[in-house]
Amino acid sequence: MLAQDLHIHSTWSNGDAAVVSEQTIGLIAELGHAHVVGISDHFELIGEDFFEEYAREVRGAGLKVGMEIDGSRWLSAVQSHVADYRIFHCYDRDMDYKALDQLLDMGQPVIVAHPNALSTNLDRVPPECLVEINNRYVWRCDWRSFYGPFVNRFEFVISSDAHQPNWLNQTVARHVATELGVRDHNLLGVLAAVRTLRPSIRG
Ligand SMILES: [Zn+2]
Ligand SMILES: [Zn+2]
Repeated sequence: MLAQDLHIHSTWSNGDAAVVSEQTIGLIAELGHAHVVGISDHFELIGEDFFEEYAREVRGAGLKVGMEIDGSRWLSAVQSHVADYRIFHCYDRDMDYKALDQLLDMGQPVIVAHPNALSTNLDRVPPECLVEINNRYVWRCDWRSFYGPFVNRFEFVISSDAHQPNWLNQTVARHVATELGVRDHNLLGVLAAVRTLRPSIRG
């Protein structure tokens, strides 16, 4: 069993052509492929009005509640919706790097999604962010030169980005992490670290 998988889509990402109808929260929970499992459906596909219903279903299945946010234009919409963590598409734009700071100030762990697929400049990413090694995308780049210079700057999370039941693995991502000599950073403890670095956060 894997230690953790926080980037998984379900049928709540209705409209994402890669998601199959069998990819229900119930089935993901039943498969139990990792000790810590989080669902991170696309915020814009869940629909703002349905986020609480989504969160209830995910929590009810015993899973962590995440969301995947497509850039800074969704920043104000996600503010009022509490999740256990947020996964963010950081495009190579000033407004998206700034959004990372604003998300961190909201007090929940922030994971930078598949930066190699979005040309994210990791030099501009705040070091309190977690950086993802994503099983769907990491093998499509020269990952050693992309991630190598940053292994001491960030903590990392390893994810499947599963859209279908048979994607619930992290084979390529774990190989890359081993080669880079980085470990999978556990979600537990991340919040405490963020709060220490961001004393403005209350609660
Ligand atoms: Zn994504
Ligand atoms: Zn995704």
